[in-house]
Amino acid sequence: MTSNATGASKPQQIIPVKCVMIGPSFAGKTSLVVRLVKDTFHNEQAATVGAMFLNKFFNFDKYVIKFELWDTAGQEKFHSLAPMYFRGAKIAVVVFDISNIESFNKAKSWTREFKSHSTEQAIMVLVGNKCDLDRAIPVDVAEQYAREEDMIYFEASAKDNTNVNNIFQILAEKIPPPSNEPTGKDDHVVSVARSKEKEKKKCC
Ligand code: GDP
Ligand code: MG
Repeated sequence: MTSNATGASKPQQIIPVKCVMIGPSFAGKTSLVVRLVKDTFHNEQAATVGAMFLNKFFNFDKYVIKFELWDTAGQEKFHSLAPMYFRGAKIAVVVFDISNIESFNKAKSWTREFKSHSTEQAIMVLVGNKCDLDRAIPVDVAEQYAREEDMIYFEASAKDNTNVNNIFQILAEKIPPPSNEPTGKDDHVVSVARSKEKEKKKCC
């Protein structure tokens, strides 16, 4: 709640943002969401069955960003569902396992898949997860790929809780505020290319 000029409180505006987790099975999509929302981690994270939807809120002075996190079971088995899954997504988080080359290659095909189906300009991020493990993908290789695809690159560990909240906090800051709430900042337009330039990578 915020206070107006008379001191009375008024409800804050909540901005819902659909955010899809995509990428190969076993990359750690579910683990990242669970870490973000519940701050827990399971070494034996149960494989996702069907779909899971969790919300995560980020509070700003005059509004609240509500991330609606969509996480489904290995969508690679259900490519025909992708258009429905991707529709209306304002953020796509493409996750791969940095200790696994095949995981990186599959993430590339998921990036293509998202781009071919998404209907609106979305912010896309590439997350190299499991940075607590020995890497198979050099950071510059992942960065170079992300640059080519106009994605922001981060590395994270759901296990160690490295960078997880930070990634989504940065994304929340990139969502334009409600039009009746000017911030004085000139970065209301979400542009993947601009975001990429301004973004400072966070690596382990
Ligand atoms: P998903 O199929 O992409 O949803 O992947 P899961 O979240 O189910 O994770 C797959 C496996 O990787 C599970 O055994 C997790 O415990 C493990 N895992 C997930 N994130 C990490 C991480 O950051 N580090 C390590 N070492 N293991 C992780
Ligand atoms: Mg899962």
